[in-house]
Amino acid sequence: LDYSRYLKGWIRTVPNWPSEGVMFRDITPLLQNPKTFRMLIDIFVHRYMGERIDMVAGLDARGFIIGSVLAYELNVGFVPIRKKGKLPFTTVAEEYELEYGNATVEMHTDAVKPGDRVVLIDDLIATGGTMMAGYKLLQRLGAEVVETAGIIELPELGGGELMRELNIPLFTVCSFD
Ligand code: IMP
Repeated sequence: LDYSRYLKGWIRTVPNWPSEGVMFRDITPLLQNPKTFRMLIDIFVHRYMGERIDMVAGLDARGFIIGSVLAYELNVGFVPIRKKGKLPFTTVAEEYELEYGNATVEMHTDAVKPGDRVVLIDDLIATGGTMMAGYKLLQRLGAEVVETAGIIELPELGGGELMRELNIPLFTVCSFD
């Protein structure tokens, strides 16, 4: 069984959401089914279980769903990287560009220690802006990002390609053209 192809079949495409012309890739069917949810998490667990990993960092909000389960399975801690204004303690912030306007992600300054080996995870890579902002936050605190990981890559939006050009390691389960 080709796990990647099988799981891709459980991702729903919603046309024209959240705006006209957008094909939204919706992972909720994949999460809802206990078998595909487990298959998905197992792909990441198998990938990282032999490596020395100190922490999993997840991006707000769907990165929390898979990231926390992955951290638990790897017996390491979980770090949330959140949208601006949600974290109570001192934070580092990274601003990045969206299609319309900007966004900022934040992380607690004590979330990782210098030298910590971290897997950074989100559900989807489009332009790569979100993932790269998270990557920069981790780097600024001295962590080593072992790999960035996602369920879906949208090659047309160029984020994966840009990240590979910048030598940022990226793993995704499937892609939609
Ligand atoms: P990027 O920053 O342009 O790479 O966009 C990726 C971010 O936007 C991720 O945090 C995703 O959760 C979200 N996103 C963009 N498009 C989609 C989609 O089609 N489905 C689910 N999430 C999306």
